[in-house]
Amino acid sequence: MNKICPICNGVLAPGIQAWHFKCMTCRYEKSDLQPTINDFSSHELINESDRETGLHQIRRSNFNKLINTISHIGNSGKTLVDVGCAHGWFVEAAMKKFDVLGIEPDEAVFRSTTAKGLPVRKGYFPDALEQSETFDVVVFNDVIEHIPDIDNVLRACHERLNKGGLLVLNLPSSDGFFYRLSKLFCRTGKIGFFERLWQKNLPSPHVHYFNSKNLSRLLTNKQFTIIKSGTLPTLGLDGLYTRISYTGKLGTLSKVFIYCAIAVALPFLRLLPSDIIYIVAKKT
Ligand SMILES: [Zn+2]
Repeated sequence: MNKICPICNGVLAPGIQAWHFKCMTCRYEKSDLQPTINDFSSHELINESDRETGLHQIRRSNFNKLINTISHIGNSGKTLVDVGCAHGWFVEAAMKKFDVLGIEPDEAVFRSTTAKGLPVRKGYFPDALEQSETFDVVVFNDVIEHIPDIDNVLRACHERLNKGGLLVLNLPSSDGFFYRLSKLFCRTGKIGFFERLWQKNLPSPHVHYFNSKNLSRLLTNKQFTIIKSGTLPTLGLDGLYTRISYTGKLGTLSKVFIYCAIAVALPFLRLLPSDIIYIVAKKT
């Protein structure tokens, strides 16, 4: 694995697990976890339909906020590509304001999204695109943190954006309360939560953990200008129980206990640093 920080070129130091690394200068974090996308065995670990229902409410509300933000910047009615569009929730919401295309590499997910009649193409970005295809907006919702070659993908974004086009990234933040809590647990030997946030042993684990500051610096290095950045809520009550259930390893009592604890704490948790950030950047 390349042990050089993609943001500040510092040497990455060992992290808190054998597969985890961090930059002591800009606080970027990296893993060498391997993807197993389209590998049937890891798909069995998660209940795909539970996962879909559990995440839907909070994602849909966050997607609407993002779409409003982008259209206020003045790119509505134009072409948009949603990279790694999964079940097509963002594509569906964005279709009201943009001319949308989704791209999805996972065969099973691609088939179910196409069956809903949504405009999706199978494959990876940018290989799934025609040579001459360009867009006004390129969106990555919980996707960029899964892509090992970050330099190449940002270069492709720059190439595939029209003049003044927008790159929109929505992703987990290493400044988030839950992520920091998971590191604290991990240091005391309870590694499950930390592994879960990196999506270890799931079909497509995370390879990067950014925060707003180091990600902005990376985008500036790659010829983008930051237009807007902010946070989105991590948790809502709708779909929370299904979401707690979806890795399938917890007993019912534990699930109920976790649900109640989160429900009671929710108003306070909203005051803490969010685990989801977004950045809207313009092609310079
Ligand atoms: Zn660094």
